[in-house]
Amino acid sequence: MKLYEYESKDIAKRYGVTTPRGRLVSTPEEAKRAASELGSVVIKAQVLVGGRGLAGGVKVAEKPEDAYAVAERLLSTSIRGERVEKLLVEEKVCISRELYLSLTVDRATRRPVYLVSEMGGVEIEELAKKYPEKIHRVYVDPGVGYLEYMSREAIQVLKLPWALLQDLSQIMRAMYNIMIDYDAELVEFNPLALTCDNKLVALDAKIIIDDNSLYRRVELQKLYGRDLSEYEKRAKELGFSYVELDGDIGVISNGAGLTMATMDSILYYGGKPANFLDIGGGARRESVKEAVKLMLNHPRSRVLLVNIFGGITRCDEVAAGIVEAIREVGAVKPIVVRMLGTNEEEGRRILREHGIEVYSEMDDAVKAAVEVAKR
Ligand code: GDP
Ligand code: MN
Repeated sequence: MKLYEYESKDIAKRYGVTTPRGRLVSTPEEAKRAASELGSVVIKAQVLVGGRGLAGGVKVAEKPEDAYAVAERLLSTSIRGERVEKLLVEEKVCISRELYLSLTVDRATRRPVYLVSEMGGVEIEELAKKYPEKIHRVYVDPGVGYLEYMSREAIQVLKLPWALLQDLSQIMRAMYNIMIDYDAELVEFNPLALTCDNKLVALDAKIIIDDNSLYRRVELQKLYGRDLSEYEKRAKELGFSYVELDGDIGVISNGAGLTMATMDSILYYGGKPANFLDIGGGARRESVKEAVKLMLNHPRSRVLLVNIFGGITRCDEVAAGIVEAIREVGAVKPIVVRMLGTNEEEGRRILREHGIEVYSEMDDAVKAAVEVAKR
């Protein structure tokens, strides 16, 4: 779960990280008032998508009147589909250099790792693609936590004066403590600015909380779901794993392994999945019906591919769920079904009665779905 920049900065501030002075506002009048208190300001759209700078979501205003106009404009736009409802008005900082500093979890080594780069301001994904050698990694032993030498390493990578060691050290220690205290999977300052008067200031901040920890983060639970699409939310409510992708073939499957294999197979035959929904083991007709309805309503998918391996999941229950979903929302898009296993015969019979052909080979079903999507 992503936190907004202003939320991330509030946390960072409490842990002793310097951020620009600022106010959170939601009207042009408030923006103007904030600017008259702060002087030259940067006005930043508070959205959860990244790369706001490039998308026009970060603007400078020299005078309070400008702040009013900029805020009015930003508050009437969307950035990458996300409506702008709040703005962070911050004093404009004179930047000497833009650095990158984050703490994330490295799955391969199962350790937190600091990513350090002197090329800040650019999205880290871009940087990793273009200049992977410009990202330095400092691994943390989770049994020990942050240690001073990590900052000495970082200060050299960042080509900062040694006089800033204490400040950098305070920032890196704060990042580690935030990660532990909030179960964060990312704590990122990009850019971490070296200001014209040689101070380190977090100009942008991003914290992502590990969703799996929300059961013990009661104060964060109420925020859960606000960065999910309506489909993701509905699927989670129903208890399914659901992932939004960008192709045009909707996929319902059971079990992570079969679902992944279905994705691979779609790509292999030249198609692109729109999303996937894993109904899990033992799904009954009622929940299959809800899953199919959700997927039939998905605007981008042109065909629904259902790939079921019946174990504790019964093919006849799945078939009944599909038929009931179609009865409720109509045959709004073609459905290709492959099923195999428990009560397969009964499942086939139910679907055939409703004019849906059932494949037994996964390849054949995937090929058929790819063809329908291309038509
Ligand atoms: P992002 O594009 O969503 O990552 O938004 P950022 O908060 O990182 O801002 C994008 C860019 O705007 C930064 O990399 C800076 O170049 C610039 N910027 C942001 N705040 C300031 C500021 O206070 N002063 C100056 N001079 N530039 C700023
Ligand atoms: Mn940024």
